Amino acid sequence: MTMLFADASQRLQQALKYVDISEDAIEYLKFPQASLSVSIPVRMDDGRLKVFQGYRVRFDSTRGPTKGGVRYHPNVSLDEVQSLAFWMTFKCAVLNLPFGGAKGGVTLNPKVLSKFELERLSRGYIDAIADFIGPDIDILAPDVYTNPMIMGWMMDQYSRIRRKLCPGVVTGKPVAIGGSLGRDTATAMGAFFVIKTILAKHNRSPQETTVAVQGFGNAGAEVAELLFHAGYQVIAVSDSQGGIFAAQGLDIPSLRQAKEASRSFKAFYCQDSVHNLVEHELLSNEELLSLDVDVLIPAALENQITEVNAKDVQAKFIFEVANGPVTSAADHHLQQKGVQVFPDILVNAGGVTVSYFEWVQNKSGLYWSLAEVNQRLQQKMIAETEAIWALSQKQATSMRTAAYIHALKRIGEAIAAKGTRDYYINH
Ligand code: NAD
Repeated sequence: MTMLFADASQRLQQALKYVDISEDAIEYLKFPQASLSVSIPVRMDDGRLKVFQGYRVRFDSTRGPTKGGVRYHPNVSLDEVQSLAFWMTFKCAVLNLPFGGAKGGVTLNPKVLSKFELERLSRGYIDAIADFIGPDIDILAPDVYTNPMIMGWMMDQYSRIRRKLCPGVVTGKPVAIGGSLGRDTATAMGAFFVIKTILAKHNRSPQETTVAVQGFGNAGAEVAELLFHAGYQVIAVSDSQGGIFAAQGLDIPSLRQAKEASRSFKAFYCQDSVHNLVEHELLSNEELLSLDVDVLIPAALENQITEVNAKDVQAKFIFEVANGPVTSAADHHLQQKGVQVFPDILVNAGGVTVSYFEWVQNKSGLYWSLAEVNQRLQQKMIAETEAIWALSQKQATSMRTAAYIHALKRIGEAIAAKGTRDYYINH
C-alpha cells in the first residue's frame, strides 16, 4: 500500500466508526472497480520512438460516471493513481455531484517535452484509453502539469475516434471549445466560500483575521486575492523559491502582477494609486508554516505539515487548498493543540464542482454566464460546508472525519440502493 493510500484509508477508518453502513458497501470500497495500464509510443522531434507508461483507474461508479484529473509527473505510478481515484470518489460525494471517482496519469517530466511531443503524447494517451472512458462512463480533467490546452487535444482526439463531437468526455477545456466560464478560478472561489462560512461561525471579521498562504500558483494566488479583496490581512505568501512577510498586510494584486512580470516576489504596497516599496521580510517555507497567524492555507503540495513540524504550527485554522498537505499523523497533533483543520475533500472541491457544471452545459448545449456559475458554486459550497459543520458538532468529530462521514453516507446509500445482504435476506 502506498503512503498516500494508507493515509487516505486511515481517514476512512476513522469515519467508519460513526456511520451505519452495510458491510457490503465497505467490501465494495476495498478495491478499485477497474485499472488500466497502457504503453504510449510517441515519435519524438528528433525522430526517436519513445514509449511512456500511462494509467487510468476508475475507483467506484455507483453514484454516476467516474470523474477525475490526468496528472503528468515523473512520480506517477499505478498506486498513486489508484489512491487519487479513491480520494475523488469521496470528494464527488462530499459535494453531492452525480459522479464516482477516477484518476489518470502518465509517468514523465513534461518540462523536457516540446509542445509537439506533448500533443502527440496526449493524443496517444487517449488512443490507448478510448474504450475505457466516455461522457457517460469516465470523464477526464486537468491535474498537476496538465492544462486547458491539453484537455482540448484530448477532447479532440476522443471526438475523432468516435467520429462525432464529444465535449462531455473532458472538462477544464478552453472556453472556446466548450469549457465553462469560471472553471479557472473555481478551486479558489470554492475555498473562499468555505473560509468565509467557517470564520463567520467564529465571529471573526476579515479585518481582524491574519492569513498566510503557502503556494502562489493557480489556486493559492487566486485565493489570496479573493481574501485580500474581502478585507482579510494576508500577511505572508510563498512559492517554491521562498516567501515574503509584511505585518501590515501584503497588496496581493500588485504582488501577482510583479510575480507574473519577474517570476519572483517583489513586495509592493499599492494604495490610492501610490506605489511605495513596503517594509517586508523574506521567509522560508518552514517559517511560513509556523507563523503566528489566524489562518494558514497550504496551497502547494502534499505532505507539508507532518508529525515533525505540526508542533510548530501556531495558526488557529488550516484550510487545505492543496490535496493532502496535512498527514494523518499531523492531524492527531494538531487536534491536540486545538488547531482546526478543514479538509481538502471539501475546501478544494470547487474545481470538480465547476467541472460538473461544464459537463452539464456540454450535455444540454446551453452555456451559463460567469455570474450564474459562481452563484451555483457558492450555493453548493456553503450548503455542504454547513452540513459537514452540523455533523461535526453533532458527532463531536473533526471537520475531516465529518466530511468523510458525510460522503460515506451518500456512497453507502447508493450501494445499498442496488441491494445488500440485508435486503436479500430480510425482504
Ligand atoms: P500550481 O502549479 O499552479 O501552483 C503550485 C504553487 O506551489 C506554485 O506557486 C509553486 O511555486 C508552489 N510551490 C511548489 N513547491 C513549494 C514549496 N515547497 N513551498 C511553497 N510553495 C511551493 O498548482 P495549483 O493548480 O495551484 O495546485 C496547487 C495544489 O492545489 C495541488 O495540491 C493541487 O492538487 C491542488 N488543487 C488544485 C486545483 C486547481 O483547480 N488548480 C484543484 C484541486 C486541488
